[in-house]
Amino acid sequence: MSILKRARTKQLNAGQWYFFIISVIGIAVFISVNQADFFHYSLNDWTWLYALVGATLILDYFTFRLPPQGNGQSMDSSVYLACVFIYSAPYALSVCLLNFFILSLYNRKTPFLKKLVNFSMYVLMITGSSIVFSVTGGETGPIQNENILSYVAALSVYFSINVLLIGFYYVILMKSTLWEALKIFFKDIIVVYLSTLILSLALSILIFSNGIFGLALFIALSAMLSYSFKQLFTMYNEIQEKVIMDERTGLFNHSYFESLLDTEFNKSKSAGTSLSLAMMDIDDFKKYNDQFGHLKGDMLLAFLGHFLKNECKPTEMIVSRFGGEEFTILMPGYDENKALIFINRLRKKLNDTYFDGAEIFPSGCLSFSAGIASHRDDIHDKAQLIDLADQALYYAKKQGKNSVHVYGSGSAQVHEIDFAEDVRDIEQQLRLFLYKDVNTFKHAKRVFRYAMDMSEVLGLDCIEKRQFTLGALIHDIGKLEIPWELLNKKEQLTSYEWEMVKRHVIWGKRIAETNDKFKDLVPYVELHHERYDGDGYPYGFKGTQIPKLCRMLTIIDSFDAMTTERPYQKTKTFEEGIAELKRCSGSQFDPELVELFIGYLNKRMLEQHQPAAEFT
Ligand code: GH3
Ligand code: MG
Ligand code: MG
Repeated sequence: MSILKRARTKQLNAGQWYFFIISVIGIAVFISVNQADFFHYSLNDWTWLYALVGATLILDYFTFRLPPQGNGQSMDSSVYLACVFIYSAPYALSVCLLNFFILSLYNRKTPFLKKLVNFSMYVLMITGSSIVFSVTGGETGPIQNENILSYVAALSVYFSINVLLIGFYYVILMKSTLWEALKIFFKDIIVVYLSTLILSLALSILIFSNGIFGLALFIALSAMLSYSFKQLFTMYNEIQEKVIMDERTGLFNHSYFESLLDTEFNKSKSAGTSLSLAMMDIDDFKKYNDQFGHLKGDMLLAFLGHFLKNECKPTEMIVSRFGGEEFTILMPGYDENKALIFINRLRKKLNDTYFDGAEIFPSGCLSFSAGIASHRDDIHDKAQLIDLADQALYYAKKQGKNSVHVYGSGSAQVHEIDFAEDVRDIEQQLRLFLYKDVNTFKHAKRVFRYAMDMSEVLGLDCIEKRQFTLGALIHDIGKLEIPWELLNKKEQLTSYEWEMVKRHVIWGKRIAETNDKFKDLVPYVELHHERYDGDGYPYGFKGTQIPKLCRMLTIIDSFDAMTTERPYQKTKTFEEGIAELKRCSGSQFDPELVELFIGYLNKRMLEQHQPAAEFT
């Protein structure tokens, strides 16, 4: 027998033992409290007994289904409590016993032990609440205002016994602590139990004022309320589905995907577990639309949605329609290798799946390209994961479509062409500084050169290098928003002016975000003034909360700022700059990266016999 199977059998036995013990206690309590009370009932007592049993059965059928899970809450407890308040514990137990007999005959499929436990739990709850009711001065009979505390106490005990009995069951079966088990149902059940108390009081009053008619009125009202709740719940489900689903593909929609990504991203970050995101885009879908029209295109999208959903069903993956003909698969527990294997298998299976008209695609079959990005320590925002997967998808397309690309495993040729183009684009934007502040323009270019060199030192792959160097080039773009006089001010800045200068990281972020191509550079613009010790701005991120290459950029940026002429500070010599880096290593700067950068500077100085800060 496997360990797992043995453990399961053990759990099952423990649960069964628990059931058995509760049943024995329940039966014993029943016998000692009820003492065959029903042998002394008058015809009137029997009539009421049947009427009340009927009421519990009807209430058991007309449950109240409560969103969001739709747990059915039976209000039959209100009848038992009303019996405790009006009659006595023995009478309430007689109602419970008859109810148990009828349900046992009716519900043949439910195991007998389970039905017995259910009965026993009611016995314990009724008896416990009845004892507390009389101990706190409650008197059976008509509802009396001065008994209110006793009613509440009786309900509290009824409620507590119920929760504890179920709680212990969870503790035994799931090995969770009692508090954890209680927390799960406490929140849901408390409102239901308060309603039960109110209903039991209302039922008692109705029985006293109008007898059987009052009881019938109560049942009719409960049944109608149950019906309305059911309607409400169905409506809730329909609305809920509309809000989170994409109608065309039957997958989750974009906004729900984002909220799921948020949850999974935080889970992965705090637990240190793997998480991969695959972004997929149908190849040449426009051609299909152009050839067969949008309606047929819609059918293909629906087909693909169905295909992806089915393929991912056995896993914990979350499939969504990201937009248009783009889909995402969120893969909790998958590192990039496992994700790559899965998505490639999916791609091949789709290639082999026929759909009407698929022969018009250039590859002669249905295909998609996909980009995969996996969560790493230096990714501090879920949006970054989407960006990286999107970039990887872009490379997959460039590699000739019908392929899967993992972010960070780049192909150099495609990269180089795009890179030169991107540098030109950013430089074009930076040219505005030629008018506004030529120093910032020169500074950006020098920092870019340092970043190029440091990419080699750090052994970055081509995608990381692209990001790091372009990030270095664009990092101060937000300064375009700072007024001319302020940028060129020779005197010390006032605190207000300083606050304004600090905002360039946020302005820069907004500028970078306007161009899809440069969205992934945002962290460099936004975080290059964060400090290793957490005293930087704009967020006060600390240590590894700041992506590694942003920490590197901070060092390069600061070193260049120290060693070149700036309007509001004295220029340091190259050696003074290095000394300053050392002084601030561990506080402002990442010590390991400072060491690497100083090593590079020294080597360069030896090679060129000139301070590195002097390149232009
Ligand atoms: P590539 O391989 O580069 O992805 O080429 P493509 O033709 O798939 O991509 P492109 O971005 O040029 O075109 C996407 C097309 O998807 C254009 C748009 O009309 C179509 N599309 C987006 N949403 C829908 C939709 O809901 N229904 C239909 N029928 N077409 C859609
Ligand atoms: Mg597309
Ligand atoms: Mg496409």
